[in-house]
Amino acid sequence: MTKRVCFLLIFQVILAAASGIIHTADAGNDLFVSRQPDTYDLTAHLSYIEDATGTLTFEQIGQPGKKNQWHRVPEATVNFGYTDAAFWFMLRLINTETVPLKRVMEIAYPVLDHIDVYQVTADGKTIHTKMGDKQPFHLRPILHRNFMIPVTLAPNAPLKIFIRVKTSSSMQIPLNLWKERAWMAKRLNESLNLGLFFGIMLIMGLYNLFVFISVREIYYLFYVCFVLCMTIFLASLKGLSFQYLWPHNVLWNDQSIIVGLAGVILFCALFIRVFINLPGNRPLSSKFMLLIAAISAIIIGSTFFLPYRVMIQWVILTAVIAIVGATVIAIIRWIDGDISARYFMLAWSAMMFGGIILAANKFNLIPRNLFTENATSYGMALQVILLSIALAERLNLEKQNSLTAQREAYKHERLARKAQEDALQIQKHANEILEQRVSERTIDLQQANEMLETLSITDGLTGTKNRRYFDEIYPREFKRAIRDKTPLGILMLDIDHFKNFNDTYGHLTGDECLRMVASKIENALQRVSDMAFRYGGEEFCVLLPNTQTKGALIVAKRIRKKIETTDFKFNNKNVTVTISIGLISSIPPQNRHPEELISNADKALYQSKQNGRNRVTVYKVANN
Ligand code: GH3
Ligand code: MG
Ligand code: MG
Repeated sequence: MTKRVCFLLIFQVILAAASGIIHTADAGNDLFVSRQPDTYDLTAHLSYIEDATGTLTFEQIGQPGKKNQWHRVPEATVNFGYTDAAFWFMLRLINTETVPLKRVMEIAYPVLDHIDVYQVTADGKTIHTKMGDKQPFHLRPILHRNFMIPVTLAPNAPLKIFIRVKTSSSMQIPLNLWKERAWMAKRLNESLNLGLFFGIMLIMGLYNLFVFISVREIYYLFYVCFVLCMTIFLASLKGLSFQYLWPHNVLWNDQSIIVGLAGVILFCALFIRVFINLPGNRPLSSKFMLLIAAISAIIIGSTFFLPYRVMIQWVILTAVIAIVGATVIAIIRWIDGDISARYFMLAWSAMMFGGIILAANKFNLIPRNLFTENATSYGMALQVILLSIALAERLNLEKQNSLTAQREAYKHERLARKAQEDALQIQKHANEILEQRVSERTIDLQQANEMLETLSITDGLTGTKNRRYFDEIYPREFKRAIRDKTPLGILMLDIDHFKNFNDTYGHLTGDECLRMVASKIENALQRVSDMAFRYGGEEFCVLLPNTQTKGALIVAKRIRKKIETTDFKFNNKNVTVTISIGLISSIPPQNRHPEELISNADKALYQSKQNGRNRVTVYKVANN
């Protein structure tokens, strides 16, 4: 320890003792101010009187009779919360130096309404300074957001300071004594911090405003308004908006704090509601947010009619309810699996931290210090930044979702088109198969029909045309002969003694013989128009269209000859079969019945039988 410091200490003790003799009542309250320290916290040295009616004057306070009513402040910080009473504070500064000391006293709570500072010097002079945010800014002795009072301490003399505060805000008196230069240095730091904070707020607000203009998502607008209100609220709370924005508007100065805070709650509630997708997912929570927003709006409206004292308490109460509600709801949404809610909670915790500290501070639950004062700002700035990131992330997510949906839709469309093509292909194929089947069936049917047709006109045993076909063809040929006036030749053939044949060789051999005879007859025909029929039993008939008797006779003879000369083999024995033929050829006259010709041919056949069989007889009209 140097000699100088030792001397100073001893001097101070002596001085303290001396002043104790002079001002016994204030003993222990005095602050000895020396050259060295940059700053003193004055709160520990304060005494106070609570003036419930607010009627006490400086003169009354200064009277010695009032001495006993002074109380020591209970804690290291002065915060009496919201009160209608006026408060008188008193302290005594004693300059321990031999030179005058120039200092500035700071009341670092810029929202106090009315402050009266009385400096009473040792020689009885009184300097009265009037301050408070209810008087225009430019009237302050030092133009700063906080209340600054220049103090001059005469050498080795005490200075008594009385401070009267009446305010609708909470009764907080953070009181410091500064060396001017140290205060300037602190001011610089503080300006930098404030500039940084409000810079962040404004940039975030502006940036997201531009984002809103470009993406048109409503929650961006809510967010921007939220940031704007937050900026106004904090700037007002710190006395900055009064200093820079409305230095003359003392009424709005108080209101701006409430409007700012209520605006923060209003837009924050609206923002949260949309941002963490409450409508549709959590209808009750959505309604709660709307209710909070409505209450905030009512508070903003009421600010202009109701006293600050009432409104500030309402708005803080609403803020606390909103913070608790929003926290619970955001956690629920997080558990629901909402990704935005997760991002939101991160940002929210930052602000909540500051918010809780602010509220606790206002209701005098925690001491007021550098950290508690600034926790709000830091929390807010961090929240604003994190929320902006969350917004961008959400936008990104929405973009991704819409891209995925688009891709999915495209995929479905492609699949649908493919399915359609496949179906068409299958249909085409089925049609082809069907067509093929139909044409196959048609051919089959045609063949079957042809077969049926052939069968229906063919004699089953001999394979020649049958009687049914004869009955169909003959009238046609008959008519044609009449029409064309051409002769129609008819041969009626009958196997001779066929009954005997059957009896001798058996019926099956008889059948065989019939087939042979039929084929010989068919072979003997040369013209396409000539037709042989099995007329019945062992009788045949041959139609020879456009054939005169002469030609018909040639054919008949050829047949008779062929049959006669053909050997029918039976049991290695040659058997001969003969045939008798009746012939007629004539151009049928009009109105003749077809039967007539047949009957005449039959008659000629009968003649052949009569004349000894195995011969051809031509029917002659003369015979008739
Ligand atoms: P004619 O010389 O007078 O004609 O003597 P015929 O024996 O041929 O006379 P008739 O007309 O009375 O006899 C016909 C016989 O032909 C009767 C039957 O036994 C035989 N016959 C008829 N149709 C068939 C047949 O489909 N198959 C066989 N095997 N014989 C048949
Ligand atoms: Mg016969
Ligand atoms: Mg016969």
